[in-house]
Amino acid sequence: MEALKIRVEPVNVETGLVHRLVDELRTIFTVEVITGKGLSPGRVLSFYDDEREQVRADLLMEDLSRILPPVTLLLIDSDAYVEGLNFVFGIAKPGWGGAVFLTRLKPEFYGFSSDDEVLSARLLKESIHELGHALGLEHCKTPRCVMRFSNSIMEVDSKTHRFCFRCAHSLQLRYPGVLRT
Ligand SMILES: [Zn+2]
Ligand SMILES: [Zn+2]
Repeated sequence: MEALKIRVEPVNVETGLVHRLVDELRTIFTVEVITGKGLSPGRVLSFYDDEREQVRADLLMEDLSRILPPVTLLLIDSDAYVEGLNFVFGIAKPGWGGAVFLTRLKPEFYGFSSDDEVLSARLLKESIHELGHALGLEHCKTPRCVMRFSNSIMEVDSKTHRFCFRCAHSLQLRYPGVLRT
């Protein structure tokens, strides 16, 4: 098997935020983490629903999974949804990668002033969550585990960016040595 590599692909996301995330991912995973050239916003815009002002996340990911290799993590400064849900913070495709959408991770979305620390911490949690799915993990009920499903920003804030013992173990069984311990 080719060595696992995580490629972060930002779309309209501030460079400082991306670099910080990449540095943090390197403290969690042992695999190489690289930053892609960044995708053209046009490719994303073709999946934008003007009435909802949201990207149709699942169709976008289907499209991009045909042109980008595993493991890809898309970071998109937009709001998003999938059929049947009002919104998603992120989405993943096991064996390929995932996407995190930034709009609802920003404090200003909830009427607070913008805060890079808060945004960065939320982005890290949701990125690791989607990467966990990409690497085969499912949702976890352990309250502080990063693989816990978050349906609101309070739930994002109340979990940590860490895998619980069970999720970490399951990941290490699939990809030995993938996590720094
Ligand atoms: Zn999930
Ligand atoms: Zn867990």
